[in-house]
Amino acid sequence: MSERYPHLKQSDPDIYNLIQKQAKYEATTLKMIASESFASISVMEACGSQLTNKYCEGYPGARYYEGNEFVDQIENLAIERGKQLFGAEHVNVQPYSGSPANQAVYRSILNVGDKIMGIPVTDGGHLTHGWKVNFSGKDYVQIPYAPDPVTGKFDMDQIRGIALRERPKMIWTGTTAYPHTIHYKDFAEIAHEIDAYLVADIAHINALIIAGVHPDPVPHCDIVSSTSHKMLRGPRGGFLLSKEEDRLHGKYHPESKLNLAKRIDRAIFPGLQGGPHMHAIAALAVAFKEAMTPEFRMYGKQIVDNARTLAQGLLTRGYELAGGGTDTHLLLIDFRKKDFTGKDAARALAQAGIIANFNQVPGDHRSPFVTSGVRLGTSALTSMGMKETEMDQIAAWIDRVCRNMENIDTVAPKIRAEIEEQCGRFTVPGYSDL
Ligand SMILES: *Cc1c(COP(=O)(O)O)cnc(C)c1O
Repeated sequence: MSERYPHLKQSDPDIYNLIQKQAKYEATTLKMIASESFASISVMEACGSQLTNKYCEGYPGARYYEGNEFVDQIENLAIERGKQLFGAEHVNVQPYSGSPANQAVYRSILNVGDKIMGIPVTDGGHLTHGWKVNFSGKDYVQIPYAPDPVTGKFDMDQIRGIALRERPKMIWTGTTAYPHTIHYKDFAEIAHEIDAYLVADIAHINALIIAGVHPDPVPHCDIVSSTSHKMLRGPRGGFLLSKEEDRLHGKYHPESKLNLAKRIDRAIFPGLQGGPHMHAIAALAVAFKEAMTPEFRMYGKQIVDNARTLAQGLLTRGYELAGGGTDTHLLLIDFRKKDFTGKDAARALAQAGIIANFNQVPGDHRSPFVTSGVRLGTSALTSMGMKETEMDQIAAWIDRVCRNMENIDTVAPKIRAEIEEQCGRFTVPGYSDL
């Protein structure tokens, strides 16, 4: 057993044991939740460092507390690496997570009550893209758009039609469950035509953009928002990329007299947050450095190769996939024609050691509480070193689960044992001392 947390083990065995149990569970099952991957030990060390103790409200060189010589250097390094990695003019690394980053987007470019175009949660959008129970749907008016229910893909003519009719002030592009390529250039043409801002939310796909296997939003979007903990493999957190100047208002905004970069910074602090989480920012700088390596680009490419192989394995075995397949890290199995729900399938898969989530599919007739789909992602397994052979084996396991829904209690433990054996042949980054 690990001596990785010797002090915690002594002082708080309850929490220590639960952390160990969760880590062991994740290392012996297939982590296929599309938003998850495995952060490196270096990222976790930075995140677990003394920096958690430091208060430094403000930005490098302009703080409201003293004693910032080193934290300024850390935040500047994170910013510089972010600029280099994404080719962005401006980077803010302070958002506490993806949702606060998106909140800052609204506060920096819109007024309460403005219309925005976004995808409803049930069609694969994020809560913060204008969903009714979220601040974004309460304070702003969501004009919904969604992938075509038949093809499962965005129909750009239809999206343009909605934009011209409704003239939103901002368009969100980016999703939590869209398995296909997003063509930012096409979205930019629509946004420019109606003088709206275009914001890409790349929380799910940032590593694919870094690896060059998905189009780059930075040249086409006014702001790009991201989480740092999903396939980027950083700490829990978020960041914002933007241009310095405002495309719609020139150098200075008529009311605030500030450029876009300054308005974003002010929206984060003092607009929404207090002190930056310097332990998370240091860990994000580490993750950015890791993401600049050739190994990381290989990881990004392999994620997509793995998802494609998994998709092929399922199609060959007679399953239907939303939009017919994938160009990203995720795929949606379409169970609309089956007599079990997405929720039933996700439960059964978890029993067998395949951890994913139920999710609506385009044209779903079942409620969001049960759905007709299961969403699967390949980022975490790719981080473990799994490749095409393992993906085909996983398709076979999924098939076995789905064909044995009636007697899953007997079949699941057998599959679970096989999965544990397969996982044992790979190293889980950051879990090697289990
Ligand atoms: C995960 C996600 C977010 C929000 O991230 P949190 O860190 O969970 O707040 C925002 N947008 C998209 C598209 C996401 O997938």
